[in-house]
Amino acid sequence: MSELLVTGGQVLRPDLTVERADVLVSQDSGDIVAVDDPGTLDGDDELDASDGLVIPGLVNAHTHVAMTLLRGLADDKPLDAWLQEDVWPVEAELTADDIRAGAELGLVEMIRSGTTALSDMYFEVEEIADAVDQAGMRAVLGFTAVTVGKDDEAARSDLEESLDVARKLDGAADGRVRTTFQPHSLTTVGEEYLREFVPQALEDDLSIHLHANETRDEVTPIVDEHGQRPLAYADDIGLLDGDTYVAHGVHVDDSEIDLLAETGTGVAHCPASNMKLASGMAPVQDLLDAGVTVGIGTDGAASNNDLDMFDEMRDAAMIGKLAADDASAVDAGTVVEMATANGAALLGFDSGRIETGANADLAVIDLDAPHLTPAHDLVSHLAYAVHGSDVRHTVCDGEVLMRDRTVEVFDEQAVRERASEHAASLVERADD
Ligand SMILES: [Zn+2]
Repeated sequence: MSELLVTGGQVLRPDLTVERADVLVSQDSGDIVAVDDPGTLDGDDELDASDGLVIPGLVNAHTHVAMTLLRGLADDKPLDAWLQEDVWPVEAELTADDIRAGAELGLVEMIRSGTTALSDMYFEVEEIADAVDQAGMRAVLGFTAVTVGKDDEAARSDLEESLDVARKLDGAADGRVRTTFQPHSLTTVGEEYLREFVPQALEDDLSIHLHANETRDEVTPIVDEHGQRPLAYADDIGLLDGDTYVAHGVHVDDSEIDLLAETGTGVAHCPASNMKLASGMAPVQDLLDAGVTVGIGTDGAASNNDLDMFDEMRDAAMIGKLAADDASAVDAGTVVEMATANGAALLGFDSGRIETGANADLAVIDLDAPHLTPAHDLVSHLAYAVHGSDVRHTVCDGEVLMRDRTVEVFDEQAVRERASEHAASLVERADD
């Protein structure tokens, strides 16, 4: 039996209090086995958390991790033009090897910034699952189906693949990989396909992850065509469910917020992407007040442009206040919960809290920095002042992924070089 002791630091507890404590984790079960007074626990190996704060590993509830290859390739355009003119032409050239290289880069970036779990939407999912396995992280993965612009055969093949991947990869990486069925969005998958394939996913108890109500352009066509709001349309198809979460949920009206709450459907809020693409401001405080589980995601690196969940927490707090026109809305404690416990609840992992019995997924923040001084309120610091680069150690499932800012699960230099090469060759092919 091998046990790791995270010792000498302060610990963020599930009720958001901070106490001096050591955390003992089992590397066999991957669980936290004790949180106790300093000096009372022993482990076979130690992680030094002195001058540090131990927090739950952050949960990135919506991303496209391999899109790191497109980081900075095209900025400053609205969603529709950006997708059609820049993103999709390049994505059409992506090979499995490109996706592996981009995924590894994204996972290294996440480990360095304290993220231990992600929910991803993409393709070549086996490559992403392999990369997650090597990274030692937890992930909910899936193949994203699009039917617009495809003939019936190609459209059906996409949806079949999304079902197949969800069935096949669930439980991969010793159970650290779970899966979702993924219709891309309510406007990019035709109604006849949703009505045929969503019941199949539900029959197999598959969770569902889709984009919804991201921009006004996604709302108007549905209202025009179906005479109902997008989430009412989604509910009519059976998409809204306790195991479903939608990315974005920016343009939702009160009736849709009620529908999300009644059906137990979650929301992955992506504040930086919503701001960068000028998509709008999600009514996050209203969603939370209604009882909707809201997590936080970075979305892909092309619309962010990084995968740092500390940036994302700060953005969520800031835009949440603007959206509510209320400086007390989406407060510091709320965004910390959104990035930890809420995200874990959306993804279905027993993580997101430093507590005996929970998954041993954690990060240690180095507090010994000018921008984290003085330490009046460490929850405030997590929301507003900590950067991803302040993370000293990252642990997932009891295994050390990064120790003293050195990533142990990948050769970081090699990952960066390979990703740069793949990105350069990809853009060259797309330009031809
Ligand atoms: Zn997305």
